[in-house]
Amino acid sequence: MKALVYHGPGRKSWETVPDPKIVDGTDAIVRIDTTTICGTDLHILHGDVATVDAGRIIGHEGVGTVVAVGKGVTNFKKGDRVIISCITKCGTCAFCQAGFPDHCQSNDAGIGWLLGHRIDGTLAELVRIPHADFSLHHVPENVTDEQAVFLSDSLPTGYEVGVLAGAVKPGDVVAVVGTGAVGLASIMTTSLYGASRIIGIDTNAFRLRKAKEFGATDTVVAGEGAREKVLALTDGLGADVAIEAVGYPETLQTAISLVRPRGHVANIGVHGVPVEFPMEALWIQNLTITMGLVDATSTGTLLKMVASGRIKSEKMGTHTFKLKEIDKAWDVFANAAKEKALKVVLKA
Ligand SMILES: [Zn+2]
Ligand SMILES: [Zn+2]
Repeated sequence: MKALVYHGPGRKSWETVPDPKIVDGTDAIVRIDTTTICGTDLHILHGDVATVDAGRIIGHEGVGTVVAVGKGVTNFKKGDRVIISCITKCGTCAFCQAGFPDHCQSNDAGIGWLLGHRIDGTLAELVRIPHADFSLHHVPENVTDEQAVFLSDSLPTGYEVGVLAGAVKPGDVVAVVGTGAVGLASIMTTSLYGASRIIGIDTNAFRLRKAKEFGATDTVVAGEGAREKVLALTDGLGADVAIEAVGYPETLQTAISLVRPRGHVANIGVHGVPVEFPMEALWIQNLTITMGLVDATSTGTLLKMVASGRIKSEKMGTHTFKLKEIDKAWDVFANAAKEKALKVVLKA
Protein backbone atom coordinates (compact mmCIF):
# COMPACT_ATOMS: atom_id res chain seq x y z
CA MET A 1 0.00 0.00 0.00
CA LYS A 2 0.94 3.66 -0.09
CA ALA A 3 1.34 5.74 3.05
CA LEU A 4 2.80 9.00 4.31
CA VAL A 5 5.96 8.18 6.24
CA TYR A 6 7.72 10.59 8.64
CA HIS A 7 11.50 10.41 8.21
CA GLY A 8 12.58 12.86 10.90
CA PRO A 9 12.10 16.63 11.27
CA GLY A 10 11.20 18.27 7.97
CA ARG A 11 11.17 14.98 6.00
CA LYS A 12 8.14 12.97 4.86
CA SER A 13 7.29 10.91 1.83
CA TRP A 14 4.29 9.22 0.22
CA GLU A 15 5.74 5.80 -0.43
CA THR A 16 5.06 2.10 -0.79
CA VAL A 17 5.09 0.17 2.50
CA PRO A 18 3.90 -3.32 3.53
CA ASP A 19 0.13 -3.72 4.11
CA PRO A 20 -0.82 -3.87 7.80
CA LYS A 21 -1.93 -7.26 9.14
CA ILE A 22 -4.00 -8.45 12.08
CA VAL A 23 -1.58 -8.85 15.00
CA ASP A 24 -3.95 -9.33 17.96
CA GLY A 25 -7.41 -10.86 18.01
CA THR A 26 -8.88 -7.48 18.96
CA ASP A 27 -7.48 -5.73 15.84
CA ALA A 28 -9.32 -4.58 12.73
CA ILE A 29 -7.84 -3.54 9.41
CA VAL A 30 -9.61 -0.52 7.91
CA ARG A 31 -9.36 0.72 4.35
CA ILE A 32 -9.19 4.52 4.47
CA ASP A 33 -11.93 6.15 2.40
CA THR A 34 -11.57 9.71 3.72
CA THR A 35 -8.93 11.24 5.93
CA THR A 36 -7.54 14.61 6.92
CA ILE A 37 -4.29 16.16 8.08
CA CYS A 38 -4.18 17.48 11.64
CA GLY A 39 -2.31 20.46 13.05
CA THR A 40 -0.60 17.86 15.25
CA ASP A 41 0.83 16.24 12.10
CA LEU A 42 2.38 19.61 11.22
CA HIS A 43 3.90 19.73 14.71
CA ILE A 44 5.26 16.19 14.21
CA LEU A 45 6.91 17.11 10.89
CA HIS A 46 8.35 20.17 12.56
CA GLY A 47 9.98 17.86 15.13
CA ASP A 48 7.87 19.12 18.06
CA VAL A 49 6.65 15.65 19.10
CA ALA A 50 9.76 13.78 20.22
CA THR A 51 7.84 10.53 20.82
CA VAL A 52 7.25 10.00 17.08
CA ASP A 53 10.04 7.87 15.60
CA ALA A 54 11.38 8.23 12.08
CA GLY A 55 9.75 5.61 9.85
CA ARG A 56 6.30 6.13 11.36
CA ILE A 57 3.21 6.43 9.14
CA ILE A 58 1.53 9.52 10.55
CA GLY A 59 -2.14 10.56 10.75
CA HIS A 60 -4.81 9.78 13.34
CA GLU A 61 -8.09 10.81 11.72
CA GLY A 62 -10.18 8.99 9.17
CA VAL A 63 -13.32 7.29 7.98
CA GLY A 64 -13.06 3.94 6.28
CA THR A 65 -14.38 0.48 5.60
CA VAL A 66 -13.47 -2.54 7.70
CA VAL A 67 -11.69 -5.11 5.53
CA ALA A 68 -10.70 -7.64 8.20
CA VAL A 69 -11.24 -8.25 11.92
CA GLY A 70 -9.49 -10.42 14.47
CA LYS A 71 -11.30 -13.28 16.24
CA GLY A 72 -11.94 -11.17 19.33
CA VAL A 73 -13.76 -8.32 17.57
CA THR A 74 -17.51 -8.57 18.14
CA ASN A 75 -18.96 -5.14 17.31
CA PHE A 76 -17.55 -4.70 13.80
CA LYS A 77 -17.38 -6.86 10.72
CA LYS A 78 -15.99 -6.73 7.21
CA GLY A 79 -17.77 -4.06 5.14
CA ASP A 80 -18.75 -1.80 8.09
CA ARG A 81 -18.30 1.93 7.56
CA VAL A 82 -16.45 3.36 10.54
CA ILE A 83 -15.03 6.49 12.13
CA ILE A 84 -11.53 5.86 13.45
CA SER A 85 -11.08 7.57 16.80
CA CYS A 86 -7.77 9.32 17.33
CA ILE A 87 -7.79 7.60 20.72
CA THR A 88 -7.17 3.86 20.80
CA LYS A 89 -8.66 2.45 23.97
CA CYS A 90 -8.59 -1.00 25.49
CA GLY A 91 -11.81 -0.34 27.43
CA THR A 92 -10.65 -2.35 30.43
CA CYS A 93 -7.67 -0.60 32.11
CA ALA A 94 -8.22 1.68 35.11
CA PHE A 95 -8.10 4.87 33.03
CA CYS A 96 -10.41 3.55 30.31
CA GLN A 97 -12.87 2.40 32.93
CA ALA A 98 -12.73 5.79 34.65
CA GLY A 99 -13.57 7.46 31.34
CA PHE A 100 -10.08 8.82 30.62
CA PRO A 101 -8.81 6.65 27.78
CA ASP A 102 -6.26 9.28 26.73
CA HIS A 103 -4.17 7.60 29.44
CA CYS A 104 -5.01 4.06 28.35
CA GLN A 105 -2.49 1.77 30.00
CA SER A 106 -2.77 -1.11 27.53
CA ASN A 107 0.46 -0.12 25.77
CA ASP A 108 4.04 0.61 26.86
CA ALA A 109 3.58 4.35 26.34
CA GLY A 110 0.54 4.54 28.66
CA ILE A 111 -1.25 6.81 26.20
CA GLY A 112 -4.43 6.57 24.17
CA TRP A 113 -3.04 8.47 21.21
CA LEU A 114 -1.24 5.68 19.43
CA LEU A 115 -2.16 6.13 15.75
CA GLY A 116 0.41 8.11 13.83
CA HIS A 117 2.32 8.51 17.10
CA ARG A 118 3.47 5.20 18.60
CA ILE A 119 2.01 2.94 15.89
CA ASP A 120 1.32 3.49 12.19
CA GLY A 121 -1.53 5.86 11.42
CA THR A 122 -4.25 6.83 9.00
CA LEU A 123 -2.52 8.85 6.27
CA ALA A 124 -2.37 5.59 4.37
CA GLU A 125 -4.50 3.32 2.23
CA LEU A 126 -4.92 0.83 5.09
CA VAL A 127 -4.50 1.02 8.84
CA ARG A 128 -4.45 -1.49 11.70
CA ILE A 129 -6.71 -0.48 14.58
CA PRO A 130 -5.97 -2.21 17.90
CA HIS A 131 -8.87 -2.68 20.35
CA ALA A 132 -11.24 -2.13 17.45
CA ASP A 133 -14.42 -2.67 19.50
CA PHE A 134 -13.59 0.38 21.63
CA SER A 135 -11.72 2.50 19.09
CA LEU A 136 -14.10 2.58 16.11
CA HIS A 137 -17.58 4.04 15.71
CA HIS A 138 -20.27 2.96 13.27
CA VAL A 139 -21.27 5.77 10.88
CA PRO A 140 -25.04 6.36 10.59
CA GLU A 141 -26.26 6.05 7.02
CA ASN A 142 -27.25 9.71 6.68
CA VAL A 143 -23.84 10.99 7.80
CA THR A 144 -21.37 11.61 4.97
CA ASP A 145 -17.64 10.91 5.13
CA GLU A 146 -17.06 14.66 4.86
CA GLN A 147 -19.05 15.16 8.07
CA ALA A 148 -17.80 12.08 9.91
CA VAL A 149 -14.08 12.58 9.38
CA PHE A 150 -13.99 15.54 11.79
CA LEU A 151 -15.33 13.33 14.57
CA SER A 152 -12.02 11.44 14.72
CA ASP A 153 -10.32 14.30 16.51
CA SER A 154 -10.99 17.96 15.63
CA LEU A 155 -14.55 18.22 16.94
CA PRO A 156 -14.09 16.15 20.11
CA THR A 157 -10.84 18.02 20.85
CA GLY A 158 -12.38 21.48 20.49
CA TYR A 159 -15.33 20.35 22.59
CA GLU A 160 -13.65 18.30 25.32
CA VAL A 161 -10.31 20.05 25.80
CA GLY A 162 -11.76 23.51 25.11
CA VAL A 163 -15.42 23.77 26.09
CA LEU A 164 -15.76 21.00 28.69
CA ALA A 165 -12.34 21.49 30.31
CA GLY A 166 -12.94 25.26 30.30
CA ALA A 167 -16.25 24.59 32.12
CA VAL A 168 -18.21 26.95 29.87
CA LYS A 169 -21.62 27.70 31.38
CA PRO A 170 -24.69 29.73 30.35
CA GLY A 171 -23.98 33.46 30.19
CA ASP A 172 -20.20 33.11 29.99
CA VAL A 173 -18.02 35.23 27.77
CA VAL A 174 -15.67 32.87 25.96
CA ALA A 175 -12.56 34.04 24.12
CA VAL A 176 -11.03 31.61 21.63
CA VAL A 177 -7.41 32.36 20.78
CA GLY A 178 -6.63 30.87 17.38
CA THR A 179 -9.57 30.28 15.05
CA GLY A 180 -8.13 27.50 12.91
CA ALA A 181 -10.03 24.24 12.63
CA VAL A 182 -9.88 23.20 16.28
CA GLY A 183 -10.55 26.72 17.56
CA LEU A 184 -13.58 26.80 15.28
CA ALA A 185 -14.69 23.43 16.66
CA SER A 186 -14.60 25.05 20.10
CA ILE A 187 -16.59 28.04 18.85
CA MET A 188 -19.17 25.73 17.24
CA THR A 189 -19.63 23.65 20.40
CA THR A 190 -19.37 26.57 22.86
CA SER A 191 -22.65 27.78 21.47
CA LEU A 192 -24.25 24.56 22.78
CA TYR A 193 -23.58 25.88 26.29
CA GLY A 194 -25.34 29.23 26.06
CA ALA A 195 -22.33 31.54 26.14
CA SER A 196 -23.44 35.18 26.03
CA ARG A 197 -20.49 36.22 23.88
CA ILE A 198 -17.95 34.24 21.91
CA ILE A 199 -14.91 36.27 20.90
CA GLY A 200 -12.68 34.84 18.17
CA ILE A 201 -9.07 36.09 18.20
CA ASP A 202 -6.65 35.49 15.33
CA THR A 203 -4.17 37.32 13.13
CA ASN A 204 -5.83 36.18 9.91
CA ALA A 205 -8.82 37.92 8.35
CA PHE A 206 -10.11 34.75 6.64
CA ARG A 207 -10.12 32.82 9.91
CA LEU A 208 -11.83 35.67 11.73
CA ARG A 209 -14.52 35.68 9.06
CA LYS A 210 -14.91 31.93 9.55
CA ALA A 211 -15.14 32.46 13.31
CA LYS A 212 -18.26 34.58 12.75
CA GLU A 213 -19.69 31.89 10.44
CA PHE A 214 -19.09 29.25 13.11
CA GLY A 215 -20.87 31.26 15.81
CA ALA A 216 -18.52 33.90 17.21
CA THR A 217 -20.38 37.07 18.20
CA ASP A 218 -17.26 39.23 17.99
CA THR A 219 -13.80 39.02 16.50
CA VAL A 220 -10.57 40.72 17.53
CA VAL A 221 -7.33 40.88 15.55
CA ALA A 222 -4.57 39.27 17.64
CA GLY A 223 -1.61 41.36 18.72
CA GLU A 224 -1.19 44.82 20.14
CA GLY A 225 -4.38 46.15 21.68
CA ALA A 226 -6.22 42.82 21.55
CA ARG A 227 -6.45 42.57 25.34
CA GLU A 228 -7.90 46.07 25.60
CA LYS A 229 -10.50 45.22 22.97
CA VAL A 230 -11.54 42.08 24.85
CA LEU A 231 -11.72 44.06 28.10
CA ALA A 232 -13.90 46.65 26.35
CA LEU A 233 -16.27 43.87 25.29
CA THR A 234 -16.47 42.47 28.82
CA ASP A 235 -17.15 45.48 31.09
CA GLY A 236 -13.42 45.74 31.75
CA LEU A 237 -13.36 42.37 33.50
CA GLY A 238 -12.06 39.98 30.85
CA ALA A 239 -13.48 36.69 29.60
CA ASP A 240 -14.86 33.98 31.86
CA VAL A 241 -13.14 31.34 29.76
CA ALA A 242 -10.22 31.65 27.34
CA ILE A 243 -9.55 28.72 25.04
CA GLU A 244 -6.06 28.47 23.52
CA ALA A 245 -6.05 26.61 20.21
CA VAL A 246 -2.64 27.28 18.71
CA GLY A 247 0.22 25.92 20.84
CA TYR A 248 2.75 28.77 21.02
CA PRO A 249 4.04 30.45 24.21
CA GLU A 250 2.63 33.82 23.06
CA THR A 251 -0.84 32.46 22.36
CA LEU A 252 -1.08 30.76 25.77
CA GLN A 253 0.12 34.00 27.39
CA THR A 254 -2.51 35.89 25.41
CA ALA A 255 -5.21 33.48 26.63
CA ILE A 256 -4.05 33.91 30.23
CA SER A 257 -4.08 37.69 29.85
CA LEU A 258 -7.70 37.70 28.66
CA VAL A 259 -9.44 36.00 31.58
CA ARG A 260 -10.96 37.68 34.57
CA PRO A 261 -10.13 36.65 38.17
CA ARG A 262 -11.61 33.17 38.83
CA GLY A 263 -11.58 32.57 35.08
CA HIS A 264 -10.71 29.40 33.24
CA VAL A 265 -7.95 28.98 30.66
CA ALA A 266 -8.30 25.83 28.59
CA ASN A 267 -5.19 25.01 26.60
CA ILE A 268 -5.77 22.84 23.54
CA GLY A 269 -2.60 23.70 21.58
CA VAL A 270 0.20 21.19 21.09
CA HIS A 271 3.27 22.90 22.54
CA GLY A 272 6.79 22.22 21.34
CA VAL A 273 8.79 24.51 23.64
CA PRO A 274 8.58 25.60 27.31
CA VAL A 275 6.25 28.48 28.15
CA GLU A 276 7.17 31.14 30.67
CA PHE A 277 4.44 31.19 33.23
CA PRO A 278 4.14 34.43 35.27
CA MET A 279 3.16 32.69 38.50
CA GLU A 280 4.16 35.77 40.59
CA ALA A 281 1.34 37.74 38.97
CA LEU A 282 -1.13 34.90 38.52
CA TRP A 283 -1.23 33.19 41.92
CA ILE A 284 -3.60 35.79 43.33
CA GLN A 285 -6.02 35.59 40.38
CA ASN A 286 -7.64 32.25 41.31
CA LEU A 287 -7.36 31.00 37.77
CA THR A 288 -8.03 27.46 36.66
CA ILE A 289 -5.74 26.37 33.85
CA THR A 290 -6.39 23.07 32.12
CA MET A 291 -4.53 21.21 29.41
CA GLY A 292 -4.47 17.83 27.88
CA LEU A 293 -5.16 15.35 25.20
CA VAL A 294 -8.66 14.57 24.02
CA ASP A 295 -10.37 11.47 25.49
CA ALA A 296 -12.74 11.26 22.52
CA THR A 297 -15.43 10.03 24.90
CA SER A 298 -17.76 12.67 23.41
CA THR A 299 -17.62 11.25 19.89
CA GLY A 300 -20.95 9.43 20.19
CA THR A 301 -22.70 12.54 21.54
CA LEU A 302 -21.24 14.77 18.82
CA LEU A 303 -22.06 12.18 16.15
CA LYS A 304 -25.73 12.31 17.18
CA MET A 305 -25.69 16.09 16.79
CA VAL A 306 -23.98 15.85 13.41
CA ALA A 307 -26.54 13.25 12.28
CA SER A 308 -29.44 15.48 13.36
CA GLY A 309 -27.96 18.57 11.66
CA ARG A 310 -27.41 20.40 14.97
CA ILE A 311 -23.64 20.51 14.31
CA LYS A 312 -22.59 21.21 10.73
CA SER A 313 -19.19 19.56 10.88
CA GLU A 314 -18.80 19.52 7.10
CA LYS A 315 -18.12 23.27 7.30
CA MET A 316 -14.65 22.46 8.62
CA GLY A 317 -13.51 20.99 5.31
CA THR A 318 -12.54 23.70 2.82
CA HIS A 319 -10.39 21.78 0.32
CA THR A 320 -10.65 18.28 -1.15
CA PHE A 321 -7.81 16.26 -2.67
CA LYS A 322 -7.17 12.69 -3.73
CA LEU A 323 -5.23 10.78 -1.08
CA LYS A 324 -2.34 10.36 -3.51
CA GLU A 325 -2.16 14.15 -3.84
CA ILE A 326 -1.26 14.33 -0.16
CA ASP A 327 1.90 16.40 -0.70
CA LYS A 328 -0.16 19.09 -2.39
CA ALA A 329 -2.81 18.87 0.35
CA TRP A 330 -0.11 19.12 3.01
CA ASP A 331 1.27 22.33 1.49
CA VAL A 332 -2.18 23.88 1.41
CA PHE A 333 -2.86 22.90 5.04
CA ALA A 334 0.61 23.99 6.21
CA ASN A 335 -0.11 27.42 4.67
CA ALA A 336 -3.73 27.39 5.79
CA ALA A 337 -4.02 31.11 6.51
CA LYS A 338 -2.64 32.13 3.13
CA GLU A 339 -4.57 29.40 1.27
CA LYS A 340 -7.83 30.21 3.06
CA ALA A 341 -7.98 26.64 4.30
CA LEU A 342 -9.42 25.11 7.45
CA LYS A 343 -9.23 21.31 7.12
CA VAL A 344 -8.22 19.52 3.93
CA VAL A 345 -10.25 16.42 3.06
CA LEU A 346 -8.40 13.54 1.39
CA LYS A 347 -10.40 10.96 -0.55
CA ALA A 348 -9.13 7.52 -1.55
ZN1 LIG B 1 -5.69 15.40 14.97
ZN1 LIG C 1 -7.24 1.26 28.46
